[in-house]
Amino acid sequence: MVEVATYCRICPAACGLLVEKSDVRITAVRGDPLHPLSAGYTCPKGRRVASFHDAPDRFLRSQKRSAGGDLEPIAFESAVDEIGGRLSAVVNEHGPDSVAMFLGTQSVFATLTRRSAMAWFRSLGSHKLFSTMTIDQSAKWLRPLRLGDWAGGRQRFDSADVWLLVGTNPLVTMQGGDFTGLPVQNAARSLTAARERGLSLIVIDPRRSETAAQADFHLQLEPGSDAVLIAGLIHVILVEHREDRAFCAEYADGVAELRSALADLTPEVVAERTGVPAQQIIEAARVFATGPRGMAMSGTGPDMGPTANLTQHLIGVLNVVCGRFAREGDRASQDGILVAIRPPRAEVIAPQRTWEHGFRSRIGGYGMLNGELPSSILPAEILEPGLDRVRALVVVGGNPAAVFPDQELTVRALRSLELLVTIDPFPTETAQLADFVIAPTLALERADHTGYFDGIFAKPFAQYTQSVLDRPGEVVEDWQFFSELAAAMDLPIKLAGRELHPGMPRPTSEEYLAWTAERGRIPLTEVLGHPHGRVFDEIDPVTVAPDSGSGGRFSVLPDDVAEELVEALGAPSTSDSYPFRLIVRRNRRMMNTLGRHIPGLAEEPANSCLMHPDDIAAIGARAGDWVRITSVHGQVLAICRIDATLRRGAIAMTHGFGRLPGQDVDLERDGANPGWLLSLTAHTQTITAMPLMTAVPVTVERAH
Ligand code: SF4
Repeated sequence: MVEVATYCRICPAACGLLVEKSDVRITAVRGDPLHPLSAGYTCPKGRRVASFHDAPDRFLRSQKRSAGGDLEPIAFESAVDEIGGRLSAVVNEHGPDSVAMFLGTQSVFATLTRRSAMAWFRSLGSHKLFSTMTIDQSAKWLRPLRLGDWAGGRQRFDSADVWLLVGTNPLVTMQGGDFTGLPVQNAARSLTAARERGLSLIVIDPRRSETAAQADFHLQLEPGSDAVLIAGLIHVILVEHREDRAFCAEYADGVAELRSALADLTPEVVAERTGVPAQQIIEAARVFATGPRGMAMSGTGPDMGPTANLTQHLIGVLNVVCGRFAREGDRASQDGILVAIRPPRAEVIAPQRTWEHGFRSRIGGYGMLNGELPSSILPAEILEPGLDRVRALVVVGGNPAAVFPDQELTVRALRSLELLVTIDPFPTETAQLADFVIAPTLALERADHTGYFDGIFAKPFAQYTQSVLDRPGEVVEDWQFFSELAAAMDLPIKLAGRELHPGMPRPTSEEYLAWTAERGRIPLTEVLGHPHGRVFDEIDPVTVAPDSGSGGRFSVLPDDVAEELVEALGAPSTSDSYPFRLIVRRNRRMMNTLGRHIPGLAEEPANSCLMHPDDIAAIGARAGDWVRITSVHGQVLAICRIDATLRRGAIAMTHGFGRLPGQDVDLERDGANPGWLLSLTAHTQTITAMPLMTAVPVTVERAH
């Protein structure tokens, strides 16, 4: 037996692991006590990493759908040749926009995956790029494009006096860095230490989550009322003249207009609309404005809600009016250890409004955000006849068949493709529909470094890991698929700045990894010498440089935001027909859909409907009963369980459960898919086409 230091690559926390292994398999996994950030911490997923590798249903060979409809093993080289030939034929007949790619969350956690996928896609020349980002938090991309962005970056959590979190539970999600700002390797310990040094924590969440339970102020709002509540906080700050007037005068347009737009939004009005007591709103606003350091940040929750774009904009405005950004001379939030960073400057990047220029989707006429189209239009892009219809789709690290709203429509679209290819270690819902499944390595079977996470780590940390296990079967790395696919399609591919043409030798994974880190501030060879990872405290911290005189200004209240604000502040739509609100909830034992079927992680009953005990009693049910949840779009059954941390009227489930439509479903084992309650086309946000996926009006009744 040997024990090897490495790190987990299931979620962004990248916790250190010690893996004990025999010649052929993992025999034990524990948190690495010598890891400088996680210090021995692991969550249930990390501790069960062996179960992912040894899962009995894991694909160890690439698969091709046979004439009889079953997936059957195929040699990787043959699969690539056939896929390349079929994709080339589609492109030759219908053009590059007839091929789409969907990048799932797991494509982020291997350094080489997304880079190589994008390199192939750019060479292909298609515009039809989609990702999980635009099906759960596109508002985060929209915000800087219409508010503007601060080139100096965010303030640091480790020197903050106050932190405000909207719709996120980092103690469970491990979302840190530019999402929540929290250091998430053992987030509970980080938060406790911050609280002990005097940090004030404000959490906005309909549920008294694990993070909210630690807060000085838990604003337990009615689901979906985020925008009104945050606008109410801004109202208090502006009415009491607590804004940073110097910062606003120098860098922001529209503050006076915002002040008058919010004039009537008194704490009493906000309390009526959100269910949060007026005095709590006033006190939280004062604490946030007093700071003097700290930021408002958010998770995925508000980005799925009924006012996603406006809510995200107002979170940004809260930071603008209080001047909450890293200023000249401040230590920057990123250190650029293994990857180059844009030099931070104390100035505004003016709103770019990119979606108003360039390519537009044929479905809905949507413009692009960060080079992507809204994922919610992908099914229509496939199904609607016409020029540039998507006929072939490549999926990597994602499971759209399980997580998109309106699963029936999504699956119908995926079934109608001429070619569906997915890179997937498991027979997920998407893999079950695919024409080809490429069987990939799992994390411990490949070398990697932490360059992608540079912006997430709270310290100048880096780690390099060798491959811990031999590759089983005929699995390949994701990047090798894209590299070989480019060759099979006779396309050049640019890997870390090097253009490789078909027939040219490909690098090894280790060489490619080294290329990706050659612009970092610490040589990868130096990182290699520290198997547990290291905090490179001795490097000069990156500090924010002075304003270059670019003249950029924030746009606090552009016309489209003003219209959304008027609509949000108007009379609330009351509907007695759907008295409950279904909210989404992360599950510590899963990373999106990953982990549902992993032995030791799967829970039974799966995906219970969590309800306040008084709500369970009010519908005449008891904990453990089956309940029927109905929205205007559909219906699901689930076992109800008590969660007294929920606000009354809110029920909570997790997206991505269930099976494919028409399959036998064992609800206790598979869980219900809340996507059946959602629509891809009704209640979508403007600009982003983001569907309503939380705060969904529903009824709940006991199922007899
Ligand atoms: S929090 Fe869990 S899943 Fe995430 S990196 Fe750490 S051990 Fe892995």
